[in-house]
Amino acid sequence: MLDDWLALTLDGDTGPHQGELAGGRYRTLAPGVLELTPTRPAPQARSVVISAGIHGNETAPIELVGELLAALEAGTVTLGAPLLVILGNLPAIRACTRFVETNLNRLFRRDLATDGDEPERARQLMQLVDDFYARHPAHPLHLDMHTAIRDSRYPRFAVVPFTEHQPTSHWSALAAADMQAVLLQHQHSWTFSHYSRHYHSAEAYTLELGKVRPFGANDLDALDGMRHWLTCLAAGRAPDAGDVEALRFFQVAVELMRDHPSFRLTFAEDVANFTEFAPGTRLSEDDTGGGFVVGTEPLAVVFPNARVELHARAALLVRPCAAPGDD
Ligand SMILES: [Zn+2]
Repeated sequence: MLDDWLALTLDGDTGPHQGELAGGRYRTLAPGVLELTPTRPAPQARSVVISAGIHGNETAPIELVGELLAALEAGTVTLGAPLLVILGNLPAIRACTRFVETNLNRLFRRDLATDGDEPERARQLMQLVDDFYARHPAHPLHLDMHTAIRDSRYPRFAVVPFTEHQPTSHWSALAAADMQAVLLQHQHSWTFSHYSRHYHSAEAYTLELGKVRPFGANDLDALDGMRHWLTCLAAGRAPDAGDVEALRFFQVAVELMRDHPSFRLTFAEDVANFTEFAPGTRLSEDDTGGGFVVGTEPLAVVFPNARVELHARAALLVRPCAAPGDD
């Protein structure tokens, strides 16, 4: 059943389902949420949350999850670690849209006060993550997998959410998974990976795995490293050690916010992530005379999107930095 779970879930059959697989058992906890529990966790096992489809049109990560579940079902991978597998925004996945009413990936905060389908889903997922880490507190890890709207100078990169007491990161595992860059955030952003990092001190990343494409049009070969990492985690094995020197590190310098209805970015809509702008370049403007001009150091732009909701983030401006200490 596991290898059908994605298709069944997207067809509206949300269970409950449960069963056995090599090394353990599985059960559905909610629509699009599956817990896999090993009979005997491997010595290197971590408690891993694997999420995809938090943005509904980002399909490559969903296909990776499908491959992993099929491998577990077939017994080519033996379960050795507790996994919580999450398909985030089911209505948006079915509609092939980023979201239905609002961006799910800024709603993961315990004091969330808004109502609606996506806030309700955020509350449900937060509760399920809380329960999972309570059952499996050892070595928590959360990989929230996405694809980006636009091209990127580094198609595969990890975003490290900000918290005051930073949990340890293992850069060599990211390098082995063929990530090309790491972006360190400088303030709280209420994403799903931030939730695990902030509230559970989990090692957690938002992983951008190339560009948005429809189901079937993804180049999964480019994600071999990521696929291998997921396999290691499911089996409870330590990840391979990659070359950290090959990773480029960036830190956020400025968040451009859309704080006025007339807000606009001055550069082309299709500019690639990590495109650099020289000192003195105007990057945004609005009808009140506001706007942002690059200061004395060049800045690179990541996730530009002028059409976000009012008071939401329209772009991150980043600068290169040294790798923070590994463990
Ligand atoms: Zn996304």
